Amino acid sequence: MTTKPRQAMPSLDPARVQNASPASGPRDRASPGTSSAALEATPGQSTGRDENMAESTHRQALPGFRWDAVELLAYKPEGAAPFKDITRQLLFRTEGLACELRYFEVAAGGHSTLERHEHEHAVMVLNGSGRCLVGDRIHDLQPFDLVTIPAMTWHQFRASGSAPFGFLCMVNVERDRPQLPDESALNALRLDADIADFIRA
Ligand code: MN
Repeated sequence: MTTKPRQAMPSLDPARVQNASPASGPRDRASPGTSSAALEATPGQSTGRDENMAESTHRQALPGFRWDAVELLAYKPEGAAPFKDITRQLLFRTEGLACELRYFEVAAGGHSTLERHEHEHAVMVLNGSGRCLVGDRIHDLQPFDLVTIPAMTWHQFRASGSAPFGFLCMVNVERDRPQLPDESALNALRLDADIADFIRA
């Protein structure tokens, strides 16, 4: 394994730390764009970016819940499962961690896939407001709320209101493929009128 030359580690700049809000002024960086190539990337695809990411010890926050050197990705490959208006950013995935941390953002009117799987999710809301189904409960979500998705529990996130709804989601790197509800699972969920009204499948 070769070691790349490292930049000198900058000392902590108090002015920047005080000014660390993502909405703080210009930072002399290109504004984040959505390249169509990035949006077409599929999960698990190996790119040079992942290797670079593993070597970065600090990536600055950018305006609008973007981060330096973090690509804006498609939530899932188009057609893989039902979802609407949601993006994914892979914030942390390193060889030494068994988990990865993603930031998902659901646009107004959008939703994640209604699914279940053996792996669990640990979620923290960061932005906007939304609702989520976890098992037989629907929760209203605000920034910094925490949501645990247990194994084999139906779950779905939807944006509320007109602002984007963003949340962090921690998940095992090694994980099973999500299951989609078949007709009988959907019928069972729809026995509850509130859940019937909520779910998008
Ligand atoms: Mn899931």
